[in-house]
Amino acid sequence: MKKVMLDAGHGGSDSGAVGNGLEEKDLTSRIAQYAKTYLLNYYEVQIGMTREDDRFIKLQERANIAKRFNADLFVSIHINAGGGTGFETFIYSQPSQATIAFQNILHSRILQAMRAYGQTADRGKK
Ligand SMILES: [Zn+2]
Repeated sequence: MKKVMLDAGHGGSDSGAVGNGLEEKDLTSRIAQYAKTYLLNYYEVQIGMTREDDRFIKLQERANIAKRFNADLFVSIHINAGGGTGFETFIYSQPSQATIAFQNILHSRILQAMRAYGQTADRGKK
């Protein structure tokens, strides 16, 4: 069974982007919780979460949590502000073929789902 680590970006004293009465840390937490429920309902996967409450976790600790979980896939969720609108995905600079394949699948499927609810610009795979 594949292991997926969901990382709700920011948390605790680190709110992330703030605007329109919203804080990024709350939105990323809700998206991560939704994704966890969805994946457990529809797929044979084991889900790990870097955080399930409003707490600050350093980036290195997030990576350590994923390593201890022995994650096959690590997905960090962010809601960026500024620099326009749309959807984008990032992978690190020297990815494996598996990482590129995961990005291709996740990018197209998430963008497709977002577009079902309205116009969403494709900011690209980076
Ligand atoms: Zn962020």
